[in-house]
Amino acid sequence: MSDVPGIVIIGAGQAGLQSAESLRAGGFQGSITLLGDEPYGPYHRPPLSKAWLSGEIEASQLVMRAPELLARKEIDLRIGVRVHSIDRAAQMLRLADGKALPYAGLVLATGATPRALRLPGADAPNVLALRTRDDGVRIAEALSVCKSRALPVVVIGGGFIGLEVAATARKLGLEVSVLEATPRLCARALVPMLSDWFAELHRSHGVGIELGAKVAAIEVSDGRAVAVRCADGAVFSCGLVVVGIGVVANDQLAFAAGLECEGGIVVDECARTADPMITAAGDCTARRLPDGGLLRLESVNNATEQAKSAAASLLGLERKFTGTPWFWSDQFGWKLQMAGLPVGADRVELRGDMQGDSFSLYHYRGDQLVSADSLNAPKDHLAARKELDKTATL
Ligand code: FAD
Ligand code: NAP
Repeated sequence: MSDVPGIVIIGAGQAGLQSAESLRAGGFQGSITLLGDEPYGPYHRPPLSKAWLSGEIEASQLVMRAPELLARKEIDLRIGVRVHSIDRAAQMLRLADGKALPYAGLVLATGATPRALRLPGADAPNVLALRTRDDGVRIAEALSVCKSRALPVVVIGGGFIGLEVAATARKLGLEVSVLEATPRLCARALVPMLSDWFAELHRSHGVGIELGAKVAAIEVSDGRAVAVRCADGAVFSCGLVVVGIGVVANDQLAFAAGLECEGGIVVDECARTADPMITAAGDCTARRLPDGGLLRLESVNNATEQAKSAAASLLGLERKFTGTPWFWSDQFGWKLQMAGLPVGADRVELRGDMQGDSFSLYHYRGDQLVSADSLNAPKDHLAARKELDKTATL
């Protein structure tokens, strides 16, 4: 395919692929170039902490689209290509290999990078974060070494990565401890009663849950992490440390190009930046809300829906992404499905039994449903989404 300016998408992940497909579905007939710096085409990240880590699925099951399908849609996927900078005045990208690539329209879908643990010993080779398929391979290998040598696993961070990795490692028969800095698990996403429920779930499966843990250092022997030491003197021996302490939006390219960034590339509800030729979608963004605040969501649903808006904007259409946010997590046979955000909720209604096989928490602000958390209750989740979609304003 020639390099006649068409639409270029930086980042061949969830949002990048969706942007490309939505552009074609929307009737765009020019060239679409999908650039990704990983050695793979678009793949599903959610299984990386679940079935991929436990070896229950093969690499082919991670693949989002077969190359033939992309070719049929005339989406020019180029993998192993890193964009170095954006020259907005010239509408030109500079690639890491020095080549230039012009664009008529641009989607930034660069995702996010795991936040680094800046502590002595954190650079040991068995201290690993999980974002990419290759990270997943390294962690799976390390888990199997731990298993064969009966070495414990320490997870730093009790967010969704931490809990899913802990559940998977436990399922594989490993000893696991989760060290979370705040007083409760998944504090940003879960209401307190659900944080407590997840702590209990993990403890009941034998995972050590340490809340308010202040990790001070990782002790290294013969070049490998052998223990995690906390400020209160507690020491957790380990054969592997998995660090899941959040992510940082990949907004460096946008920032260097003079676009507004505030913990993410600032976009409106149509995924537009201030540059009419440039949109952004997915984990790399921070969405400006009508009240002036910013919303950062890191989920498949957000990446997909924002990408549809980004594509529409480049086609000159207005597709506001104001739907109900939702996402899911799988741990120990429990499927958590969340819809909406419990912002300003003043009342919670329990449906089912928190000690039973399934239940939901419905959160209300006055009489209005603002969010719902469902555990093994997919019908409740769908019903709540339907209800929330009627009043969705985000
Ligand atoms: P990404 O999928 O990260 O894609 C961005 C791509 O851009 C990457 O390949 C990156 O390498 C590339 N890139 C960056 N900079 C450049 C550059 N300069 N040049 C070229 N390429 C570049 N969400 C859920 O809703 N449910 C789940 O159960 C769930 N589980 C998850 C489990 C794991 C282990 C992880 C890591 C995430 C999970 N998520 C889950 C979150 C979800 O996967 C992300 O929100 C989603 O992948 C974001 O998509 P994205 O396209 O914005 O970013
Ligand atoms: P996260 O959900 O932000 O959780 C990280 C947790 O680690 C937070 O509670 C954080 O506390 C805590 N923490 C920070 N520094 C710490 C330290 N030094 N010691 C101990 N704890 C520390 O992020 P994540 O779990 O790493 O997930 C990364 C990304 O993957 C996110 O985008 C997430 O949405 C995505 N993901 C999603 C799913 C899902 O949707 N099912 C599953 C896996 C991953 P503070 O909040 O105080 O920083």
